[in-house]
Amino acid sequence: MSVESKWQEIQTNIAEACNSCGRDLKEITVVAVTKYVTVERAREALAAGIIDLGENRMTGFLEKYEAIGDDARWHFIGSLQSRKVKEIIREVDYIHSLDRKSLAKEINKRAESPVSCYVQVNVSGEESKHGLALDEVEEFIEWLKDYPNVHVVGLMTMAPHVDDEEMLRGTFRKLRAMRDRIRDKHYPHAPCKELSMGMSNDYKLAIEEGATCIRLGSSLVG
Ligand SMILES: *Cc1c(COP(=O)(O)O)cnc(C)c1O
Repeated sequence: MSVESKWQEIQTNIAEACNSCGRDLKEITVVAVTKYVTVERAREALAAGIIDLGENRMTGFLEKYEAIGDDARWHFIGSLQSRKVKEIIREVDYIHSLDRKSLAKEINKRAESPVSCYVQVNVSGEESKHGLALDEVEEFIEWLKDYPNVHVVGLMTMAPHVDDEEMLRGTFRKLRAMRDRIRDKHYPHAPCKELSMGMSNDYKLAIEEGATCIRLGSSLVG
């Protein structure tokens, strides 16, 4: 199916999810995750009117960026090795995977201006997942105040791969509660208004629980 027609279907679903909880469609940013697909398919997403593209690996990111350039807004959503930061720091618009002090220091050092970052949280505590534990998040974000090139726009999580709706909602609610706590501190370096949560299998629930950024791969571009 073309990206165009998948995108229409997804927009309908997003509108329904927004309706069901009284949210405004405009609050939701959709990142097309192009990690499984070719540059051509990524271009199709742009042609369909999607401007946010996401990649989770360095090689995929650089390959797509070199082909497409600044026509898109670029999200790095995968785990990021500190020594690789310099390879993407000029190209990237959002980093969704800030999860440790060494990475923050490297971003701060390599960036020439503040970089929009999401702090990644491992809400469910699964060993296979990256991210800070919920109870580490506040201290970490406070610590970031001395690193002016790290600008915390929000929190990000990957929910467990389950069909259990209550478990998914619980995960999203915990992230949202933490987002609210940090946002309400009004830190200049960490406005923390955004919630990057929801993927192909759970984005409707994520929207109902407050997501402002959803990351869609398989359901949107294949
Ligand atoms: C792959 C990936 C996605 C998209 O996954 P789908 O289930 O294909 O929508 C979203 N976020 C992250 C961090 C990913 O690695």
